[in-house]
Amino acid sequence: MTTSYQSLNPNNGKLLKSFELISNDQLEGALAAAESCFQSWKRKTYAERAVVLNKAAALLRAHVDDFAWLETLEMGKRIEEARAEVKFSAGILAYYAQHAEAFLAPTKLHPKAGEAHMESSPLGVLFCVQPWNFPYYQLARVAGPQLMAGNVLLVKHAACVPQCAIAFERLLLDAGAPPGAYTNLFISYEQAERVIDDPRTKGVALTGSVPAGRSIAARAGQNLKKSTMELGGSDPFIVLDDADVDQTIPWAVWGRMYNCGQTCTAAKRFIVVDAVADEFLAKFKAALEALKPGDPMDETTTHGPLSTEEALVQLLAQVDAAVKGGAKLPMGGKRMERPGSFMQTTILTDIQPSNPAFRDEFFGPVVSFFRVKTEDEAIALANDSDFGLAGSVWTKDVERGKRVASHVDTGMMFVNSIDWSDAELPFGGIKNSGYGRELGNMGIQEFVNKKLVRTGHIPAPV
Ligand code: NAP
Repeated sequence: MTTSYQSLNPNNGKLLKSFELISNDQLEGALAAAESCFQSWKRKTYAERAVVLNKAAALLRAHVDDFAWLETLEMGKRIEEARAEVKFSAGILAYYAQHAEAFLAPTKLHPKAGEAHMESSPLGVLFCVQPWNFPYYQLARVAGPQLMAGNVLLVKHAACVPQCAIAFERLLLDAGAPPGAYTNLFISYEQAERVIDDPRTKGVALTGSVPAGRSIAARAGQNLKKSTMELGGSDPFIVLDDADVDQTIPWAVWGRMYNCGQTCTAAKRFIVVDAVADEFLAKFKAALEALKPGDPMDETTTHGPLSTEEALVQLLAQVDAAVKGGAKLPMGGKRMERPGSFMQTTILTDIQPSNPAFRDEFFGPVVSFFRVKTEDEAIALANDSDFGLAGSVWTKDVERGKRVASHVDTGMMFVNSIDWSDAELPFGGIKNSGYGRELGNMGIQEFVNKKLVRTGHIPAPV
């Protein structure tokens, strides 16, 4: 339960800044400002909205280092990754500035009598709840499409990245967004419920964990409000017997260790066919051992801290439970002996279905390694998961890779790469990974009224 928003450097444990929750009166003011802004924002042309979004993208690009620095400071992302995230966020804003009008253009229908078309109009105030692992990209993923669609946003960011939350709100105001178009809220869970319940709120978008999804989706459901849920994942990384192991290893390291393993679509379950399993495991372990832990501000660091001390404690407890449950630990498993919230790179093997690790999401540098005999066994194991976000297949035979990808029950599959996210491609999952899509054309369609307008000149039936 969030009682204050704290900016704390996970590289050394130093408290940087604290922010109080806003009062219920201030929350009411934010809701009223959002609703009032919507009345004028929805009437702006796409071109007028695009001016704001393009300006925000330009400001992000002009100040990449400042935005990246804040993110590295607050949640420990390696500085190079933080810079890339800032640039990507700018790309998302610019993408929707360019394409929103075409995505939401009226479409003609062909009824037997008269004429008809569908048109798209914004719903109103949307409430967005976002996680800390991509402090700007997550915000851009909703702000880009939804502001261009004509909606306005009230945003509750994660309690551990308040400075990034403020920076993004400032960015949009500096870009010319009217007050109320995008409002950051430092609020408790109870206040979040108030926002969902409020009749001015018309939709709810969460990216976060499964428990958060259950709670927020239930609240939205009680209020009959449309929601999208981008939740956790335990993505399979399927290595077939004909894979080029040497080419696969760098992707395995990147897929697990990018953002210190704290990515929803990170490769989490490595499912390797027997023929190449020993070679894969030995080379993967060696590559992980070669990573260099250190200050995430230092460009030569390849293994930074976790986002918070709580995240580290939770991950250590999960690894302990896995080992108690019978898993073997050929590598790591402990916190690093140095200041800050650093976790050793860890490999778990021999994870039986009865082990909690079989179903859990490990949000950090922990590899779950599974050995299987055949392609079919690999697919069956990949699908034996409560999650269904993404996954990847590694093989020299691309058609075989696509065939396997078709049989894995997830929202996204990648063959011989894990380019997770691009502005123009839809992103989202099934099962406990949630519902709805962000990004691409699909992302902007989630919170618009698809209205049928039919015209006819036929006499009324008698
Ligand atoms: P989390 O605890 O669910 O937090 C995410 C956000 O939800 C935070 O702003 C949090 O606020 C808020 N929140 C949680 N419970 C809430 C409640 N009952 N009412 C109102 N707000 C609530 O998630 P996390 O563990 O920090 O983030 C990592 C999770 O997000 C992982 O499971 C990851 O896979 C998932 N994720 C998914 C995607 C995707 O696109 N599918 C992308 C990124 C991350 P506080 O910070 O104040 O607690």
